[in-house]
Amino acid sequence: MRMAIDFICRSIEGKVVWGEKSGYVYSVSTDSRDIGNECLFIALRGERFDGHDFVLEAFAKGAYAAVVDRDVPGEIPAGKVVIKVADTLKALQMLAKSYRERFKIPVIAVTGSVGKTTTKEIIASLLARRFNTLKTEGNFNNDIGVPLTLFKLEAHHQAAVIELAMRALGEIDRLSYMVKPHAAVITNVEPVHLETLGSMENIARAKCEVLKYIDPDGFALINGDNQLLRKTAANYSCRKYTFGYNNDCDFRIVKVESKNKGINIVADMRGKVYKMFFPLPASKLAYNVVAGVAACHLLGIDMHDAISALAHYEAGDNRLRVINLSWGGKIIDDTYNANPLSMEAALETGKNLREKGRLVAVLGDMYELGSYEIEGHLEVGKKASQNRVDILVTVGKLGKYIAQGALQAGMSPDKVYSFADKEEAFSFLCAHLDNEDTVLFKASRGMKMEVLVERYLDFMENR
Ligand code: ATP
Ligand code: MG
Repeated sequence: MRMAIDFICRSIEGKVVWGEKSGYVYSVSTDSRDIGNECLFIALRGERFDGHDFVLEAFAKGAYAAVVDRDVPGEIPAGKVVIKVADTLKALQMLAKSYRERFKIPVIAVTGSVGKTTTKEIIASLLARRFNTLKTEGNFNNDIGVPLTLFKLEAHHQAAVIELAMRALGEIDRLSYMVKPHAAVITNVEPVHLETLGSMENIARAKCEVLKYIDPDGFALINGDNQLLRKTAANYSCRKYTFGYNNDCDFRIVKVESKNKGINIVADMRGKVYKMFFPLPASKLAYNVVAGVAACHLLGIDMHDAISALAHYEAGDNRLRVINLSWGGKIIDDTYNANPLSMEAALETGKNLREKGRLVAVLGDMYELGSYEIEGHLEVGKKASQNRVDILVTVGKLGKYIAQGALQAGMSPDKVYSFADKEEAFSFLCAHLDNEDTVLFKASRGMKMEVLVERYLDFMENR
């Protein structure tokens, strides 16, 4: 990538206050620990740090230019460029938008309450069969991550898949304005971030903001089993397709069978029936798979190619990652995050993967559920009972409601244990679990449940 200082100034309504108005930068960074040679450093204000305090360090490390919205302490070296703007975060986004406009390639936006990363990864891996594809790395899906992803676009890219997340109304709008998607997938609308959004209607409205920006010859794929989403999406005129179990869905899931190695899906893809295999044993993921295959099909990927690529899909970090232990037991590390829907998918995965030993579910608090908080936890307890969990271990204050839900659903009290923290839970696991048990770990990001996974893994492999 190469951007002229002049192009940058025009894009972000910035003014050069130090140095020459000429020259180029070859990458963009907002982190002074990661400065590429001749890069543009944009000084953002975070919760703990202010990038303006690191401008000199960025220059010392090789940055050519910096974008600031206040004066920088210290002496700027000669030969460097400082550009002043009204707001550096806005500047980052305005520049990403201008940079993205240089590329005439299909960009696919993926949003929704649950399953964005999984769906994004599926689409990227299938598109890669035919196109040189850029994708959002990890979970770089917000106000900062999305522009930084767009700056990774290079001349050799032929397609891009970008994940868009939000916590409030207007955020997807802002991101979509930058991304200018050719197509969008809305995975679902669930009570996640209900705390900040206030109502399910607002959640649906927020996700649908992406539809306003879709190319006239592009398309949207939306979850056709969600009536609220369908109704909200109807306010937008873009071409729409639906996926799901509903009889009138364009891409219809006819049947899903989960085995311990994955799911077999039969799907009616606009009138033609296909069988597909996906190597993660959670039937809920059929939505992501059918949406992903449908998106790639509409973008010109041969259906059989897409289906054969699916079988090679690999789960990302801490997302339904299965670790086989030396003595026959298993760990299912799904600690990346949690909400009631993904808890259910993980519990089903546990049920399918358990072989000889018991199924143990170690489940922690789910945050940001707002008014659905208690009900959501009780519901997960019920699902634990229905998915034949042999031992339920809950961690944290809210986790107690999961235990309560399981007891209400008829699980026997000698199978249900609640602990205040991971330390107590760890002692219990060490004392009670066997080599052959299958243990699922899952909670919201803030619980850092992966720490418990590592300790448990270490204990089991060394005892
Ligand atoms: P985030 O908002 O944190 O970025 P996300 O929307 O990107 O989350 P993923 O990371 O794909 O979602 O998945 C989060 C969790 O939800 C994982 O445990 C995953 O297995 C589960 N999951 C993914 N898709 C579905 C689905 N359709 N139904 C239920 N659970 C799902
Ligand atoms: Mg994600």
